[in-house]
Amino acid sequence: MINLHHHGATSGVTGSCHELTLTQGSHESGILIDCGLFQGQDEGRGASASDLSIDFPIDHIRALVVTHVHIDHVGRIPYLLAAGFDGPIICSEPSAIMLPEILEDALKIGFTRDRQLIERVLGLIRSRLVPVPYGQWHSVFAESDCSLSVRLQRAGHILGSAYVECDARVGGSEERIVFSGDLGAPHAPLLPAPQSPERADRLVIESTYGDKDHEDRETRRHRLKEVLEHALEDGGTVLVPAFSIGRTQELLYEIESLIHEFGGELWNNLEIVVDSPLAAEFTRIYRDLKPYWDAEATELVEQGRHPLSFEQLTVISSHEEHLNAVDYLARSHRPCVVLAGSGMCAGGRIVNYLKAMLGDKRNDVLFVGYQAAGTPGRDILNYGPKGGWVQFDGNRYDIRAQIHQVSGYSAHAGQSDLLRFIQGISQAPQEIRIVHGDEDAKQAFKKELDRLRFSNVSIPVGS
Ligand SMILES: [Zn+2]
Repeated sequence: MINLHHHGATSGVTGSCHELTLTQGSHESGILIDCGLFQGQDEGRGASASDLSIDFPIDHIRALVVTHVHIDHVGRIPYLLAAGFDGPIICSEPSAIMLPEILEDALKIGFTRDRQLIERVLGLIRSRLVPVPYGQWHSVFAESDCSLSVRLQRAGHILGSAYVECDARVGGSEERIVFSGDLGAPHAPLLPAPQSPERADRLVIESTYGDKDHEDRETRRHRLKEVLEHALEDGGTVLVPAFSIGRTQELLYEIESLIHEFGGELWNNLEIVVDSPLAAEFTRIYRDLKPYWDAEATELVEQGRHPLSFEQLTVISSHEEHLNAVDYLARSHRPCVVLAGSGMCAGGRIVNYLKAMLGDKRNDVLFVGYQAAGTPGRDILNYGPKGGWVQFDGNRYDIRAQIHQVSGYSAHAGQSDLLRFIQGISQAPQEIRIVHGDEDAKQAFKKELDRLRFSNVSIPVGS
């Protein structure tokens, strides 16, 4: 028997975590795909360690496969290790470089301040990492009556992201199961678009944007240009709450291209600040891993351009520098774009900027990513345009700054992209499970798949 279980989201604080288990008689062997921590609505409520501890049996789990290093896919790895998981952590080569970095940050914030303990956990994680090149089969286990191999393919979501093809064999039956992880949008800056798998008997697919499409890249770039030009006319700061991995680098890439194309006083004097040690670190890693960039980005580099390290870009790491920057920008009204996390304003350095700047109508807030219900980001987006307020640390902050949104820098496939991914599989999957989306998005996506007559489409509980 070949079974799928979905462990994520059962308590509202856990993220993506799927299990593929092969059963032969009384013998069970399985793998986990991702082991994440949810971000969004429940994040602020302060998940306790008991919420996050691994609440399902793992004795039979032989490996963890990581699709990509976003925290909602990897954040519970320390808890998995604490629960006694002793198998390899299989991931792409770029992910293997980024995973310890992202987990170090997560451990510092949510787990412990004990430096030695953090180093021990990170050492353990490093020793378990098994980087596997894209497109290459990797045997997880092979016994006489039961075997499992995995292959990672580019998912185009963030650097190192992969969807996972699993070839499972139990006795005489064989099956190919594909886990999408998070899929990127085609024509996203920097990364090549995902190609459909050649085969998927069963497909487990994300549905973050299962209910809508994004603006196309040119429209989006044009909107970004307009918003920035308009925002900077009255001399103010544009605050962009952005996740550190993926979106930050996509935005830098686009802004560099706007500066290059339009120049002039406004663009040439524009200052871009990335205020986040983690974002700075990941921008460096993105720069170092140019072999994984797409053709367009590679071309720019060959022309001598530096999409992720141009002259007008300042990177802030230390906390003191951060406080100085907030203070300086709130007073100076220099044309400046600040990228800082967290992406949903639920914490991180963006909060200090928002507190200092939301009350001034010369400033602007530009949302480029998904804002989950219950986050300050969602409140600013909803109530800002109506002259409302948002709460930080128990205090109200009136919103006079202009609020904008450019969707599509989400690093996520839109509904049609997801459909194309499925329709590109030459033989339709016998079963499709929709996971990793808001209830509305999952339902809307299921409706589309039903309308297109895909059989056996379901939304598993706890996914
Ligand atoms: Zn992701």
